[in-house]
Amino acid sequence: MFLVSACLAGLNTRYDGTNCCKRYFKSLVAQGKAFPVCPEQLGGLPTPRESIELAGGDGQAVLKGRIKAIGKKSGKDYTKNLLRGADEVLKIAAMLKIKKAFLKDGSPSCGSGYIKVNNKRIKGKGVTAALLSNAGIEVQAAGLKVED
Ligand code: SF4
Repeated sequence: MFLVSACLAGLNTRYDGTNCCKRYFKSLVAQGKAFPVCPEQLGGLPTPRESIELAGGDGQAVLKGRIKAIGKKSGKDYTKNLLRGADEVLKIAAMLKIKKAFLKDGSPSCGSGYIKVNNKRIKGKGVTAALLSNAGIEVQAAGLKVED
């Protein structure tokens, strides 16, 4: 069993209420081989929601309390939501004995190869990707797209 970002499996969980469905991941879920999760929804955020970015660093820096996750327009602090969502995803991973997750790249939660900081791509992981990775779960970047 794998974990997969819910938006990659066709669920309308993105900040703007859309998805970025990839047939392969939808099919893995349909076959019972992957479990879809959206850390931002699990962290208590609504959909649609404000687009969020990490302020000056990556998910590891958020986990260490060095930087915050903020709303792009409002500047509101969403750090607690992203941390709570990451914790909930880790719980699901433990329940299902997950060893590998396919996560949507570019997201402040799911980003696995790159994230966006001040509208620029930087190498690094989002908050959930970082937490899973720290727990020894292989995280693979998927569904490259500029916006999240
Ligand atoms: S990238 Fe992650 S946090 Fe964003 S909508 Fe998809 S599953 Fe949710």
